[in-house]
Amino acid sequence: MRAPYACDPSRSRGRRFFEPPAPTRDAFQRDRDRIVHSTAFRRLVYKTQVFLNHEGDLFRTRLTHSLEVAQLARSIARAIALNEDLVEAIALAHDLGHTPFGHAGQDALNACMASHGGFEHNLQSLRVVDELEHRYPAFDGLNLSFETREGILKHCSRKNAARIEALEPGGVAHRFIEGGQPSLEAQLCNLADEIAYNAHDIDDGVRSGLIRIEHVSEVPLFDRYRREAMDEHPELKGRRVLYETIRRMLSAQVYDVIDTTRDALDTARPTHPDDVRRSRPLVAFGKTMREQSAELKKFLFDHLYRHPQVVQSTRQAQDVVQTLFETYCRKPHELPESHASSSDESGGGFPRAVADYIAGMTDRFAIKEFERLSGRRWQEGDRG
Ligand code: MG
Repeated sequence: MRAPYACDPSRSRGRRFFEPPAPTRDAFQRDRDRIVHSTAFRRLVYKTQVFLNHEGDLFRTRLTHSLEVAQLARSIARAIALNEDLVEAIALAHDLGHTPFGHAGQDALNACMASHGGFEHNLQSLRVVDELEHRYPAFDGLNLSFETREGILKHCSRKNAARIEALEPGGVAHRFIEGGQPSLEAQLCNLADEIAYNAHDIDDGVRSGLIRIEHVSEVPLFDRYRREAMDEHPELKGRRVLYETIRRMLSAQVYDVIDTTRDALDTARPTHPDDVRRSRPLVAFGKTMREQSAELKKFLFDHLYRHPQVVQSTRQAQDVVQTLFETYCRKPHELPESHASSSDESGGGFPRAVADYIAGMTDRFAIKEFERLSGRRWQEGDRG
């Protein structure tokens, strides 16, 4: 039973191009299926989350991260009677626009595109589902419902919002100009993303040997659940301590979001998704959990994301992206014909076509292209 504040597929604001409804699936289930069958979704398996994709088989990739976000978001959605299918569609699509090599790749591509409108991965996720997937006879993109697209565009600069608003008045970019919130399903995916990466980056960080479990115990949120686990299971050793601590920490965060959001909904009493869009943000952590989660995030930032070994592979990844960008711009014939010609259709010019092509690459394809075009070798790191 869905609540009146949940998005209702039968009252969707619709798709950009009209299509008759599917006989057995509602609009959001159909969106989710289109995302799962897309090329960009399959590429996520070979894209870096934090650790470069080839550094070890057990680290999270963008694909496993997206699946974890979908799992967490669906659990919470079920408890507060939101639309689970919409939540799943948004979660599975939320990172489709990520470049190879994680944030290092995105920063490098953004720098390359500085004088051509920049590069934002959220905007790119929307671009993938709106334009870059070429599989249907009648339109480019996946022609997803407004509500799924609204959830995918979770951040957007004012300049880009104004550009989208001009093409789609009152559409998905409107709230970045006039203020307002997205649906509860979109708000939830945003928070589930944060819960997922905070937890799995500790796991991957410890697995990589770059951070130690004793070290993470400086973080109050982690330490609380580690102590609790050890009190109940004094015999616990090794990786099971880590798993049990993360499991408890994840549950505590999920329950905190459910309780806090229920309270916020009781106070705000939205009776329609548009009430939610006009309200303050309603899906949130309580005050204490918000502060503790921020401490955990800061720890990961200081000790993992800025770890010299991570920074070193980051620099190499940036070199790859920059070299690819400069080479394709200098030698347009190196870009596949299908991509070179897409620059005319989208009106973004040749640099945008190059950025789209690079952003769509998996880590290993980017490395292969880099080695082919530059004659230089990628230096293997050794971890995991
Ligand atoms: Mg994410």
